[in-house]
Amino acid sequence: MKRRAVLAGVGAMALSGCAAERNCDDAASGQETFEWKMVTTWPPNFPGMGTGVIRMAEHIEKASAGRLKIRVYAANELVPAMQVFDTVSRGTVEMGHGAAYYWKGVSEAAQFFTAIPFGMNVLEMNGWLYAGGGLELYRELYENYNLMPFPAGNTGVQMGGWFNREINSIDDLNGLVMRIPGFGGAVLERAGGTAYALAGGEIFTSLQTGVIDATEWVGPYNDMAMGLHEAARYYYYPGWQEPGPALECIINKEAWAQLPVDLQTIVELACATLNDQMTAEFSARNAEQLAVLEEDQSVEIRTFPDDVLVKLREITDELLAELVAKDPQAAKIYASFDAYRKKAQRWSAVSEQAFLRTRDL
Ligand code: CA
Repeated sequence: MKRRAVLAGVGAMALSGCAAERNCDDAASGQETFEWKMVTTWPPNFPGMGTGVIRMAEHIEKASAGRLKIRVYAANELVPAMQVFDTVSRGTVEMGHGAAYYWKGVSEAAQFFTAIPFGMNVLEMNGWLYAGGGLELYRELYENYNLMPFPAGNTGVQMGGWFNREINSIDDLNGLVMRIPGFGGAVLERAGGTAYALAGGEIFTSLQTGVIDATEWVGPYNDMAMGLHEAARYYYYPGWQEPGPALECIINKEAWAQLPVDLQTIVELACATLNDQMTAEFSARNAEQLAVLEEDQSVEIRTFPDDVLVKLREITDELLAELVAKDPQAAKIYASFDAYRKKAQRWSAVSEQAFLRTRDL
């Protein structure tokens, strides 16, 4: 009863907004219904990402009173994870969910909209995307691929990953074969390692059979769901490679243009809700699962040595300089990203960082 009343309220608001604003055709009057498909890069019902996307689709269907139904497909159910971008870009399906840095083969500039090593944490990324000019640049870049992007999820700072060898110096990365996508993978390669961008479903077996020596994935919650603690001994932190990775919802531009304004608004709000809820879920579940891992005698949780992190940061800066020199789109986006990061770094130092320090005194 209560939900029905709320839905009626949403409908009335959307209609009056439409009437006051512009031409109210049949679609905008709420008669037309849409059935969309959404392909994702996640294994079926994957905790946090997969389940979050399913919840978002349910929110959209309920808030639109059934006018926009979205059927969600896990990786490989309709297309493999790494074909999500292309499939939505071509309009084969209307919608997709994944991470912009998976598409660096298409556009290296896309990586800034997920994470770059030593980049920004979740608060800073949301600040840049929603209130610091980032989202405008994101939309400008994806316009070239016939896509409308929305931030739609963030895991918060990740772990450095699972290793079957100790990392005591930068030389220990030499010859290391690791699953690590995006810019972090390029940094590892410059340090002498080999980087693979395996999708979630392929990681456990690759690590267990020794195809890879190490993998980063997300954090305790997701990593344990995948069983990674049973395939490697050392669990290193912090996740220098992904300090606050933003996930994305992408929508084919023609499909987006066909939605009336009220349904567009519902989709936009559902993405923003997923963005917040996913961060909350990872924050709570990572804390719980870290406590479990700390009791597990077969696992050693370690920090990377400072000099390894300093070297990785130097390599990151070197690669960024090379990227902006050859790719004008990346240069434009990085200029905005870096200017925001510099400001945010100072504010974070006197706010979150200073507070967290006082709590540990
Ligand atoms: Ca990761």
